[in-house]
This record gives sequence, structure tokens and C-alpha cells, in this order.
Amino acid sequence: MSIYGDYIKSVIRTVPDWPEQGVNFRDITPLLQNSAAFRKLIDSFVHRYQEMNLDAIAAIDARGFIIGAPLAYELGCSFVPVRKKGKLPFKTISETYTLEYGHSEVELHADAFQKNDRILLMDDLIATGGTMLAAANLIQRSGGHVVETATIIELPELGGSQKIRDAGYSVFAVCS
Ligand code: AMP
Repeated sequence: MSIYGDYIKSVIRTVPDWPEQGVNFRDITPLLQNSAAFRKLIDSFVHRYQEMNLDAIAAIDARGFIIGAPLAYELGCSFVPVRKKGKLPFKTISETYTLEYGHSEVELHADAFQKNDRILLMDDLIATGGTMLAAANLIQRSGGHVVETATIIELPELGGSQKIRDAGYSVFAVCS
């Protein structure tokens, strides 16, 4: 949790029963509309990662891009999109993971990283942890080293962060 965690949480809106019954959707658009809050959010990540000698920020399609790109700019790192299947035009590697109903797949360009690059992996939210874990495993398979996974908000009651930690990755969440 960051020093701004409570404040950041206060500007995230919960929309009940969206996109389906029983889901409490965490809507980050009020946070993005609030320039002071958005700056504090990015500053939280800058503060945590500025001394970590990262080579690249990898961010997950699509809301991960919103936080990953400004952080890469600020830290002087490269930016790598981890995309949903079928969106990347060059040679790709992919990782399939299980959803509650069915499967999904994340993809990377095969030349996205140099061997042993130090990578921070970001997404806006960790729920079951399946997306972040698949993306982390994909990066490791591509030869990169996932220094940490980072998110704006985690939902600890769903056990996702613990699942990612159990797989050997570090997890940082600004709020929960
Ligand atoms: P998961 O793989 O279950 O950890 O789901 C994480 C991904 O799904 C992230 O890319 C989130 O943007 C999205 N997501 C899952 N649950 C929610 C939720 N309750 N509110 C907002 N986004 C969600």
C-alpha cells in the first residue's frame, strides 16, 4: 500500500452488478479525470521504482497502458504492451489462462525484451490474479526478469495477489 492509498481508493468508483450480476466493477475513470489524483498515482509508482534500475515497463491491455506509459516516460524505460490475442502484428509468443468460464490468452512480441531485462509488469487491477500471472509467466518465458508486478487496486478477498506471490512474484498494490 502506498502513502496515497486511501486517497486513491477514495477516487475509484465501485459500480455494482457490472458488467454482470454480482461483479463490483472498480471504475478508475473518476481517478483519471482528477488530474491531482492521477499525478499522485503515477508519483506513487515513480517513488517506488525510481531506484530499481528497470529496463522496461510491461503493461497489460488495456487499462494497464494508462499507468504503464507515463511511468516508462518518467523513469526513462522502454514500454512493452502485453496484448490480448490477435492484436500484435509481428512474431508473437502467448500464454493461455483459465477464466471462470473458458480461457483467455495474452501475447507479447517475441523481440520485446533482451535476455535478463529487468521488467515491471503493470495492470490496473488484480482480481483472481489469472491475467497478471499469465503475463508474468510469459515475460519470464521470453527471457525477461519480472522484478515486480504492480497494480492500482487489488481485491484481496479473491486471493489473486496471494496466487501471484505463491508463484514466486512480488506484488505491489497502491490500494486494496
Ligand atoms: P483477474 O485476471 O481476475 O485478476 O482480472 C484482472 C483483469 O480484469 C484486469 O485487467 C482488470 O482490468 C479486469 N477486472 C477484473 N475484475 C475487475 C473488477 N471487479 N473491476 C474492474 N476491472 C476488473
